[in-house]
Amino acid sequence: MYDIIIIGAGPTGLACAIEAQKAGLSYIVIEKGGITDAIRRFPINMTFFSTPELLSLDGLPFTTVNVRPTRSEALQYYRGVVGYHRLNLLLHTEVKAVQKQGDVFLCTTSRGNYGARRVVVATGYFDATNLLNVEGETLPHVAHYYDEPYKYALSDVVIIGGRNSAVEAALELWRHGARVHIVHRTAELSKVVKYWVRPDIDNRIKNGEITAHFDSVVSRITTEAVHIRNNATGAETAPDTFRSDGDACSRALRRAAHRDARSSSPADAWPDRSRSAKAAHRRAQAARNRSARARSAPLGCTKQPGAPDAPSGHDTPTARRAPARRGHSAPPQTPSVRSSRAGRERSSRSVRTSAQLHKLCAWLQAPKGCAEPCRQKLGEAAGQAWADSNKLL
Ligand SMILES: Cc1cc2nc3c(=O)[nH]c(=O)nc-3n(C[C@H](O)[C@H](O)[C@H](O)COP(=O)(O)OP(=O)(O)OC[C@H]3O[C@@H](n4cnc5c(N)ncnc54)[C@H](O)[C@@H]3O)c2cc1C
Repeated sequence: MYDIIIIGAGPTGLACAIEAQKAGLSYIVIEKGGITDAIRRFPINMTFFSTPELLSLDGLPFTTVNVRPTRSEALQYYRGVVGYHRLNLLLHTEVKAVQKQGDVFLCTTSRGNYGARRVVVATGYFDATNLLNVEGETLPHVAHYYDEPYKYALSDVVIIGGRNSAVEAALELWRHGARVHIVHRTAELSKVVKYWVRPDIDNRIKNGEITAHFDSVVSRITTEAVHIRNNATGAETAPDTFRSDGDACSRALRRAAHRDARSSSPADAWPDRSRSAKAAHRRAQAARNRSARARSAPLGCTKQPGAPDAPSGHDTPTARRAPARRGHSAPPQTPSVRSSRAGRERSSRSVRTSAQLHKLCAWLQAPKGCAEPCRQKLGEAAGQAWADSNKLL
């Protein structure tokens, strides 16, 4: 007979046990699995969205490698908490029923009966799946828990829902080569989707990399297809699921490998690969190249105020750098050794014909006689850079 029986050894049950122990009460925690068993069953690669101090118990420090703890870090931590407090646990024992008999609560478990004056039910909600009540929901290929992505590679996966768990599963599956369809009953994903995940999923949907069926529900599931009904029109579709040809497989695998590589840097985790983004990226890159060239320019010419902009069709790298030098008279510089491929290409492009040089000097409104020294400087600098870069080959 205990003062308290705590059902469930999740974080809530453990916190209750710690407090009961501190208060000098007799207690037992009855858990149907292992310590924090629900967390153990979370997706293998999952990261909590709460920071460690919000998940810690009794002020015991929870240190993590990154800002947010992973599933395995949390499991280690909670196991440590149990050890530190020497909590009284009865693991792998399911509470089947609780009955009140007089002043006593009687708990019927898979391993005998236990009585207590009070019972704390800390069973969480992980076991209570949200069933759809549609035909085919119990087929073997329908899962109510997401665990890991590898078994779904090269397969069509339909994810039902549009909140955090659905979105995270969708992204992870897509990154591991699955063809992902999201079915969500409202017109857009939930507003509660974590703000740092939102751009990633939005861009995947925008680019057609993940297919989203909004305002839609799954009407039935067969061994061949998942039938999706649009709420507004009532039209039913079934994505071409469960089929893969060899080419499609290898394409999907290459894409998945590419995504894995890109995901290695958090900043690149959700690059926007839409056409406009690519164009913007190219423009930004070109601008960076121009300013880099302007900084390392070997010319001593001065662009006069009021001089016209670069003539059309005269889009040499040298000409393109001139606007950055507008109004400045940079001293001639000796270019540093260019070891990169881009540097070598720039060096080779810098070797210009004298006709181009004359055009350039005219455009720069260079003082008379400038062309020849310019040509010499440019030739020397480019020749030196070219020689240097060849040494590195
Ligand atoms: C993918 C995912 C990510 C999440 N991320 C966060 C987050 O970042 N921050 C946050 O605060 N929350 C998060 N949550 C919610 C998180 O689950 C809860 O915050 C936390 O686990 C709740 O703890 P709990 O102890 O109340 O319940 P649970 O952790 O669910 O523990 C309940 C325990 O009771 C046991 N149990 C159930 N029935 C019985 C029975 N009949 N007999 C015996 N034992 C039983 C279960 O096995 C389980 O171990 C997340 C949930 C999911 C699914």
